[in-house]
Amino acid sequence: MATPEEHAILSASSSSRWLHCTPSVVFAAPYDKERKDTTFTAEGTAAHALAELKLSFDTGKITKRKLNAQLKKFKAENEYYSTSFEEFVDDYVGFVNETVATYDHPEVELEQRVNFSDWVPDGYGTSDVVIMTDSILHIVDLKFGKGVPVSAVENTQLMLYALGTYYEFNMAYDFDTVRMTIHQPRLYDTSTYELSVEELLDWAETFVKPRAELAMAGEGDYAPSDKACQWCPAKAVCKARADKNLQNAIKYDFADSNELETEAISDVLSQAKEIKKWLEDVEEYALVQARDEGKHFPGWKLVAGRSNRKITNADVAASLLTDAGFTEIFKPRELLTLTAIEKMVGKKQFGDLLNDIIVKPEGKPTLVVETDKRPEISSHSQAVKDFE
Ligand code: SF4
Repeated sequence: MATPEEHAILSASSSSRWLHCTPSVVFAAPYDKERKDTTFTAEGTAAHALAELKLSFDTGKITKRKLNAQLKKFKAENEYYSTSFEEFVDDYVGFVNETVATYDHPEVELEQRVNFSDWVPDGYGTSDVVIMTDSILHIVDLKFGKGVPVSAVENTQLMLYALGTYYEFNMAYDFDTVRMTIHQPRLYDTSTYELSVEELLDWAETFVKPRAELAMAGEGDYAPSDKACQWCPAKAVCKARADKNLQNAIKYDFADSNELETEAISDVLSQAKEIKKWLEDVEEYALVQARDEGKHFPGWKLVAGRSNRKITNADVAASLLTDAGFTEIFKPRELLTLTAIEKMVGKKQFGDLLNDIIVKPEGKPTLVVETDKRPEISSHSQAVKDFE
């Protein structure tokens, strides 16, 4: 079931979109169909529930008896529970406990409901963990996904949660610093961002508040960017996004030469990801419209895709073939993937049993932007030169 925060027009989780592209809220509303509780969000919700339970015990909010009873219930009833699921949650819980231990007599709140509606209409949210000392407010957020790392640096969702948490507790404390951390156990990634209370409040007053007003009114300039458009419900039909990508695709004048210059290739590379994404979004949108809504796009038609023959009953096929004298009809036995085995046996036992016979081959060379965290590798020709 969606939380009130998810129902809010200007939710914190979509703030990286509406804070930058203010007209997107009104423009995209007709495309924002009922949100589905996808496997990923449901799994994240389960991870948050288990973490809250364990941290409630660690922070003295529930007894050991209650912890054990609820753990037993969780394991029996939750479809996402597995040994490795619990190990990743434990990793986060351990991280929170270590963070709490770095402070002197902190106050800790879990799943704290926060209110930033002074700046954003219907602005409510939930801070996973709030650690408070006299001068520091620290919020820690669990992201359980294993897709891409989410950085805490200038993360508007976390900044809004921090703002709401500050609003909730500032009467009782004398905060001067706000710290925000995102921990992603399944990506082994942690990042922290810090700013002064003054900077946070200034951002809220001079940036968030006026932009929230523009967003509610559907005003302001369209501002396509990979961050803003990524989750926008109108991303396939938005003209501003199409204009930007088409302009980027044709902005080079190659008249002077038959060959692309190095700088031109760099520029094409830097636009490629977003242009590819946009093309995929438009293709997917058109397919769904044609298939589900019967919409016709001039020059295009819906056909059945290619498919392969398949056996309807493998057991019957196997006995017919064996009876006919064909015995070598089975594939060799194959191990499950490492991820599936790790999920089954748990991270610790997986390591104990298999670490000595697992290797990680060097990945295929990939071109990435200079700011990527991975270290640069030498090209083949450079390696030959170095050897010589
Ligand atoms: S697709 Fe991008 S530019 Fe267009 S409305 Fe959405 S966020 Fe704004």
